Amino acid sequence: MSRSEFQLKTPEQFIAMRKAGLITAKALQAVRSACVAGVSTGELDKIANQTIESMGAHSNFQLVAGYNHTICASINHEVVHGIPAPERILEAGDILSIDCGAEIDGWNGDSAITIIVPNPDGSLPDTEKVKARQELSRVTEGSLWAGIAALAKAERLNEVGAAIEDYIDAQGKYGILEDYVGHGIGQNMHEEPPVYHFRTKDLGPKVSPGLAIAIEPMVTAGSNKTKVLADGWTVVSKDKSDASHWEHSIALTESGVWVLTAPDGGKSRLEALGVPFGGLSA
Ligand code: MG
Ligand code: MG
Repeated sequence: MSRSEFQLKTPEQFIAMRKAGLITAKALQAVRSACVAGVSTGELDKIANQTIESMGAHSNFQLVAGYNHTICASINHEVVHGIPAPERILEAGDILSIDCGAEIDGWNGDSAITIIVPNPDGSLPDTEKVKARQELSRVTEGSLWAGIAALAKAERLNEVGAAIEDYIDAQGKYGILEDYVGHGIGQNMHEEPPVYHFRTKDLGPKVSPGLAIAIEPMVTAGSNKTKVLADGWTVVSKDKSDASHWEHSIALTESGVWVLTAPDGGKSRLEALGVPFGGLSA
């Protein structure tokens, strides 16, 4: 399929996708609530799966060949695709990226958040390292929303990547991954077109209402060079610098942007950015 052949969605299809997006958001909220020092990423995986199944949906990560988990849980210098396990016990101050997705009625959601793991009492260790990790997560999440805001006005898709790169560069010295990128989303979790989180020479496809994409910047506190561990999945920064990953599935409607995997559809954050909210109702 050439890049121009990706499918635009109808408003009815976006409404169906919102269901998958909300369930994905609920699963991530449940993981966030359970995430404290002493908990294992294997337990978080179970919580995500129970949440998704309880709403009549299924984990779409489990449909990926060879992957038998509901979330990816990437700790510290693991950037993406970390495998949850009962022996991976979280420590206070760890920077943890959780990626998760749900499928219902044949439609998909895909979203990721970064958490700085608190103590069981909710406090964080008062260290420079933790402050730097909080800042890394803030910059990464901010870059996602800069990309979402750019999508609202974009004529060509790589205006999103350019906005993400410019946002991050203005915040300090960070590595933006180029080995892994965002994607179209719909009846498959991964569809055309690719969504780059940096400026490319090719401006990308034309942007129009009906576009549904997952934007998911992966950012490190050092180099953007990565390698895959011997488990065949876990992607780590080569220089062992900390990493953060934030992702939303986003629909572009006739009236604006609808963040399908945000509990409020993105309304509050979009308003703050001056971006028209494009949520639809059945
Ligand atoms: Mg994802
Ligand atoms: Mg994705």
